[in-house]
Amino acid sequence: MDTKKYIYSFGNGHGEGDRTMDNLLGGKGANLAEMSTIGMPVPSGFTISAEVCDYYNKHDGDWPDAVDDQLKENISQLEKRMDLRLGDNDDPLLVSVRSGAAISMPGMMDTVLNLGLNDQSVQGLANKTDNPRFAYDSYRRFIDMFGNVVKGVDHEQFEEAMQEVKKKKGVDLDTDLDAKGMKEDVDRFKRVYQEAVGEDFSQDPQEQLKLAINAVFGSWNTPRAITYRKINQITGLLGTAVNVQSMVYGNMGDESATGVCFTRNPADGTNELYGEFLPNAQGEDVVAGIRTPHDINELEEAMPESYEQLYQLTENLEEHYKDMQDIEFTIQEGKLYFLQTRDGKRTGKAAVKIAIDMASEGLISKEQAIKLVAPNHLNQLLHPQFKEDDEEDMIGKGLPASPGAAVGKVVFSSEKAEKMHDDGEAVILVRIETSPEDVGGMSSSKGILTSRGGMTSHAAVVARGWGKPCVTGCDDIDIDYSSGTFTNGATTMEEGDWISIDGTSGKVFKGKKPVKDPSFGENYHTLMSWIDEHQNMMVRTNADTPDDAQKARDFGATGIGLIRTEHMFFGEKRINSMRKMILSENKEERKQALEDLLPYQKEDFRNIFEAMESRPVTVRLLDPPLHEFLPDDDTELQSVSQSLDVSEEELQRKVKSLKEVNPMLGHRGCRLGISYPEITAVQTRAILEAAIELEEKDGSADPEIMIPLVSTIEEFVEQKKVVNNTAENIFNERGRTIDYKVGTMIETPRAALVAGEVAKEADFFSFGTNDLTQMTFGFSRDDAGKFLDTYLDEGIVENDPFKVLDHQGVGVLVTEALQKGREQNESLKVGICGEHGGDPSSVQFCYNLGFDYVSCSPYRVPIARLAVAQAQLAQDG
Ligand code: PEP
Ligand code: MG
Repeated sequence: MDTKKYIYSFGNGHGEGDRTMDNLLGGKGANLAEMSTIGMPVPSGFTISAEVCDYYNKHDGDWPDAVDDQLKENISQLEKRMDLRLGDNDDPLLVSVRSGAAISMPGMMDTVLNLGLNDQSVQGLANKTDNPRFAYDSYRRFIDMFGNVVKGVDHEQFEEAMQEVKKKKGVDLDTDLDAKGMKEDVDRFKRVYQEAVGEDFSQDPQEQLKLAINAVFGSWNTPRAITYRKINQITGLLGTAVNVQSMVYGNMGDESATGVCFTRNPADGTNELYGEFLPNAQGEDVVAGIRTPHDINELEEAMPESYEQLYQLTENLEEHYKDMQDIEFTIQEGKLYFLQTRDGKRTGKAAVKIAIDMASEGLISKEQAIKLVAPNHLNQLLHPQFKEDDEEDMIGKGLPASPGAAVGKVVFSSEKAEKMHDDGEAVILVRIETSPEDVGGMSSSKGILTSRGGMTSHAAVVARGWGKPCVTGCDDIDIDYSSGTFTNGATTMEEGDWISIDGTSGKVFKGKKPVKDPSFGENYHTLMSWIDEHQNMMVRTNADTPDDAQKARDFGATGIGLIRTEHMFFGEKRINSMRKMILSENKEERKQALEDLLPYQKEDFRNIFEAMESRPVTVRLLDPPLHEFLPDDDTELQSVSQSLDVSEEELQRKVKSLKEVNPMLGHRGCRLGISYPEITAVQTRAILEAAIELEEKDGSADPEIMIPLVSTIEEFVEQKKVVNNTAENIFNERGRTIDYKVGTMIETPRAALVAGEVAKEADFFSFGTNDLTQMTFGFSRDDAGKFLDTYLDEGIVENDPFKVLDHQGVGVLVTEALQKGREQNESLKVGICGEHGGDPSSVQFCYNLGFDYVSCSPYRVPIARLAVAQAQLAQDG
């Protein structure tokens, strides 16, 4: 015999569950039980667990054997408690049947109200309440909802019938219909039902109840619910629980109302009751938008006693839950009931204010306040946003590569972007994809839009570094450089047209959308100072310029985890020397060109060291394939050939010779340094001379030289030798030494596999999880956007692995490499500098493994710091 408990009762000061049981009872059921136990006015009822839904969906609509008896027992208990009987002709018990999953899915599943009414009991209800209008109003609502939810009758058909009655009676509003009008509605609704379903409306309340429960279970798997779960990545739930609850009525007259309120303002966090209500109405009227609800403050005047009670009890609820609550309530003839409570959704600004206020009010500790702010809340605070979150004029959607809102005129080339920017125009750079050559144009733009590329594409990485809004991989649009347009089929945008891009959602809009500024404010700084006390792991930054380094310091970065030195080779003078270096026919020429670059690099390093005030700075030696520094179209080729005084043919030949079928797996990283050791030597010289010169001026620096894309120990040893020899030469020349470290990126699977050997030689490891993810999955980081959407939709991957570290695959390589590394070299410093270094769940992963630091773009530093504090607090318990 099945002795399992499937049904849990609540109400009357007692709940057979609590808020921790949301997996089984759903959020709504768990909180109804909890509210009952703490003495809140909750109408009695019971929750059928989500396990029954799971069974129902796996067994063609059957229930586990024990459920029938438990249902009978719970109905009879409820009847006793309410002193009413389901189906009684004179004084019927009416119930609501509502869904409720562990994670809220607003509006996705179904609800039936006023269940238990039939042609007899509606008269009983009318007599008992002395309110026939109310009774027939309740009955017509029930027929409508039951017809719609259980039998799939289109709600519009009921609505049309009601319109006809209103027209006949000469009234505009539902509330103007009298008892007779409502009765006529009921007759019409029954006819609509009969015609659509092919049978009469059920007069048996027991049958009504079973059918309604099944319909709610069934609504778990409607296409819209499935889609919602996919979009919101809700996985691993059993299904929905069903809450059967005795009805209370907000539509019993002027002393009755229904409403929704938040214990604090969810938009800005102000400590005030916030919400709305409708007098003489049932819950669905608020949602349906038929009547405009009143501000909750007007309740104080309309029903002062109920308002007072609502105010007091919602405050008690917040105190109990220790978080801002979102509450559904009903007032029946002056008596207040709570139908639901849950932690309220809020904006970033509100989240920070609420956390700080609650701690200051003594409601929660500082540690709890830190836990109350979600990383995404901070993300919102740090970037401008669009005022409206809608999809009007949307012309495409790509990947949300770098958050924030940007508005500007479309421009297709970096040169043009720079020019228009200099003329004082706001521009959005629209490219198929970007390369390091575009940094000037990118930096001159308000935002960047690319039709190709993923979350770690060049555009994404650079834009995030600058905190500039960016949408990548937007394959809804076709870009045609030659005609200077992009189209998404129906719409064509030309150079100079206004567009708006939302790097937080990936949406692209036609025209200018209104934007609001980011706002830090005092609360943000207070929160950050509390977070400071829980930073057992360092948060460094990925920064390539002194400005970025300074910005990251302001955000609280405690070092630099990655300087991508290739970004130092742009700008008119520098790029010429770089190109000369690439075009050099021999070592001498190459050395000369590199030496021309030395002063620029040295100055950049010195300024960065200075900004970081003796904190560690990891400088990565040149990494990208060299073709990225050469022009890729004819016009540019021409101008480059002129400025370098090289023939176009010669230039073309060189460009061709550098072309690779698969450049990301080609001649890049330490492979360049091995082919051209002078590159490594000159970069080392720039770093160490900058550090020495700073020390000579009483400053200090902590340089860490990092060899990229290593996959064999031999590669590392060879490059380390060049670094050390160069250092020795410099120390001899200068007559002084400084400390420096030489380490490597672990960004190829092979490097992870031989990490033990590498650690014997390396001072530090920095996991380059962008390349490591690319090579472990074999997904091109620039093209994966094309299929990742489908993968996410189909549940083939749970997250975009370029955003959230893949624990099962890449994470295993990271874990094992770290263990092997530390076994061989106790003092090995370990960090991460791939984009995952700014993703909260990946930060937690690194924290739990015992990393020394994570490194991320400046604008993500506060988020990573919050994630470190939360990981630390979670581990402390
Ligand atoms: C990486 O591969 O993770 C990394 C940080 O380097 P890049 O993104 O510059 O290839
Ligand atoms: Mg890399």
